[in-house]
Amino acid sequence: MKFFCVIGDPISHSKSPRIHNNAIKHLGLNGIYSRFHLKDKDKLKESLFKLKLNGANITLPFKEEAVKIADFKDELTLQIGSANTLILKNRKIHAYNTDSPGFLKAIEEFKNIKKALILGAGGTTRAIAYALKQRNIHCTIANRSERNFSHFKDFKCTLYEDLKDFEFDIIINSTSAGLNDDNLPCNVDLLKKIKTKYAFEVIYGKKTPFIKFCEENNIKYKDGLSMLLWQGVFAFELFFELENKQKQIQKAMLEALNLS
Ligand code: NDP
Repeated sequence: MKFFCVIGDPISHSKSPRIHNNAIKHLGLNGIYSRFHLKDKDKLKESLFKLKLNGANITLPFKEEAVKIADFKDELTLQIGSANTLILKNRKIHAYNTDSPGFLKAIEEFKNIKKALILGAGGTTRAIAYALKQRNIHCTIANRSERNFSHFKDFKCTLYEDLKDFEFDIIINSTSAGLNDDNLPCNVDLLKKIKTKYAFEVIYGKKTPFIKFCEENNIKYKDGLSMLLWQGVFAFELFFELENKQKQIQKAMLEALNLS
């Protein structure tokens, strides 16, 4: 039997146990997926071994720490600097980032994207920006503060008030604005100036002010549920070393999400 869990702080809200366990059940695999509330990042490595895990998903605020403790990192994880999936093999830790391909899969139905504006400059923006770069999509990153711009040396970064270009194919809210408050990521007048075909909201499970703005302005959008789903599908493939099972995994995970 294989053991997995999601590790974060807070963790009680996580839908990962539900989606992974449903996929395990539907694919007839021998495994169990739980959750673990970790408070101290210095105990991440020790916890993985104490819990005798075969793998884990790592969520806020430990995604950077997950890279630090890993013995092996794939190229994408190294570029992004954060990992959400760890595999334990022969007492070695292997780190991956499935948020990045998860985001690309989530926006697959949006066609002909050449220019993107990402609002926010946190950890999720890193996963999204590198995903878009892989697809040769030009990215501008805008944020309310400059404090994390040093993480985006390959990208054009600007404060909201200094944004000069207003034409994009997609605008992505990758901030936490709207998660626990009623805020837009930036001033509504700035959002109104921007012309875009598509929008993406990383937050899921609630109608955020950014989503309301998209609806009021007839902008085609998707929310973060599809990204959550696909990062889960890619992590699951890694956990059980599966190939060509994406459709079944996605179906089972979607079923679990629709029930919750
Ligand atoms: P970080 O804390 O790393 O970054 C948060 C970003 O949001 C920063 O740029 C911060 O600006 C900005 N921000 C926070 N509050 C506000 C506000 N009130 N107004 C404007 N900007 C604000 O968080 P993450 O990048 O890890 O997460 C961002 C969001 O992505 C979260 O809501 C999280 O739930 C969601 N997420 C969704 C996933 C999915 O699968 N759908 C996966 C991972 C995350 P500053 O730097 O100035 O503080």
